[in-house]
Amino acid sequence: MLPASLASLRNYVDGEFVSTERQFDNISPLHGRLLGRVHEADAALVDRAVQAARKALEGPWGRSTVDERAAWLHKVADVIERRFDEFVAAEVADTGRPVTQARNLDVFRAIANLRTFADLGKVAHGECFESRTAQGEALLNYTVRKPLGVVASISPWNLPILSMTWKAAPALICGNTLVVKPSEETPSSATLLAEAFHEAGVPPGVFNLVHGFGANSAGAAMSAHPGIDGITFTGESRTGSTIMKAVADGVKEVSFELGGKNAAIVFADCDFDAAVEGVLRSSFANTGQVCLCSERVYVERPIFERFVQALKAGAEKLRIGYPDEPGVDMGSLISHKHRAKVLSYFKLAVEEGATVVTGGGIPHFGDERDDGAFIQPTIWTGLPDTARCVREEVFGPVCHIAPFDTEEEVVRRANDSNYGLAGTLWTTNLQRAHRVARQFDTGIVWVNTWYVRDLRTPFGGTKLSGLGREGGRWSLDFYSEVSNICIKVG
Ligand code: NAD
Repeated sequence: MLPASLASLRNYVDGEFVSTERQFDNISPLHGRLLGRVHEADAALVDRAVQAARKALEGPWGRSTVDERAAWLHKVADVIERRFDEFVAAEVADTGRPVTQARNLDVFRAIANLRTFADLGKVAHGECFESRTAQGEALLNYTVRKPLGVVASISPWNLPILSMTWKAAPALICGNTLVVKPSEETPSSATLLAEAFHEAGVPPGVFNLVHGFGANSAGAAMSAHPGIDGITFTGESRTGSTIMKAVADGVKEVSFELGGKNAAIVFADCDFDAAVEGVLRSSFANTGQVCLCSERVYVERPIFERFVQALKAGAEKLRIGYPDEPGVDMGSLISHKHRAKVLSYFKLAVEEGATVVTGGGIPHFGDERDDGAFIQPTIWTGLPDTARCVREEVFGPVCHIAPFDTEEEVVRRANDSNYGLAGTLWTTNLQRAHRVARQFDTGIVWVNTWYVRDLRTPFGGTKLSGLGREGGRWSLDFYSEVSNICIKVG
């Protein structure tokens, strides 16, 4: 059951929920029905949010200790825990994902993000050096961390509450204030998050939420606003480039988590069943809508045919359906519009000469589920490395499997990409695991597992996949302005 406040999704600025005249529909991908009306922020409301965030830096929040900020973040996490089922319902309604995923990944991680960064902030420390000049002056150098100021955070739709809290928690523990914008596709859990900040008694102006689109809407107004001190963005690489241009004049701090076209390498010496299970998950989890998903799979030739058949069997067993159906593995895509994009790649793959091993279309249920944005898990083989379907991010439940013969060859092919987010490696050879893992030209590598995250570790991508790293102390570094103080002590 969706909370009543999600029928009319308002902005949250300076501690108040704000309606606007301009509104747009929040539509369910499961049946195309209206979930709520979203109040779109214009440039004037974004400006109010930035001013409120600036003012809050001068109030109790700006004078708060890290312990006080940590206590506030824990209180927000407490509210989410108390309203857990509402957050799950919001996440499921907007995205069409299985309830079990929303419970075990999305909302669970939102709480973990808040609590982990609350605790990490307390142990963030600076550096201290003692030295003596040639003239004999004794010096003490030490660094202090200050907040950047007002941070803008723009989120995507694929993991809405997870992404938003992943940025909000470290930004706030470092003492910043925030203006956040969820994707226009997923306004619900962000609205509940604003309610959680309100309920937790976080001072007005510290956390501001604006709803809207990118270009000519709240997103563009945020990135162009001169009062923003830093911007953290997760989304498509093309959008990252647009935002970078918008902030260039102000020389703002940016942190970008962008797209991926990730490779999984499966060696013949792998634990076969674990590798099949792992690639099944890494290709089809969240209906393939995770930036870390493996859309390119390279399998060593001796096990290639067997692997393709085993993955096909696994994909065909995945249960597609409504979020609350028992045993459901895959929900819908985020929207019918996104399904049209994924289907256009399915068509392109055939034109490019792919063999469709399984899937390639829309499932037919023969009931009202046929109205949902469902799609079949799809496996291709037979494409050259130059094919667009092997080079461009599809962001749907699809992978291309290609055979390889040597380690050197597969490393070169895996790295032959404009993206560099994540690489996955399946082998039982320890030396090979270390050797190949460090050759991946990506920010993240998993060996014999996928998408397990210790929040203290760095996260980010190379090339078109991003700029900077977040996670653990890397987040604290991004959201802090570090000053060095040099004192003559003798
Ligand atoms: P998107 O770039 O279309 O939108 C992301 C956000 O940016 C939305 O809030 C949108 O309204 C806003 N936006 C769009 N145009 C804008 C503009 N001109 N100025 C300011 N804001 C603008 O991305 P999406 O479709 O929501 O998300 C999918 C993409 O996100 C995929 O490419 C995926 O790989 C990537 N992603 C990356 C990571 C990562 O950690 N690297 C994580 C999740 C998603």
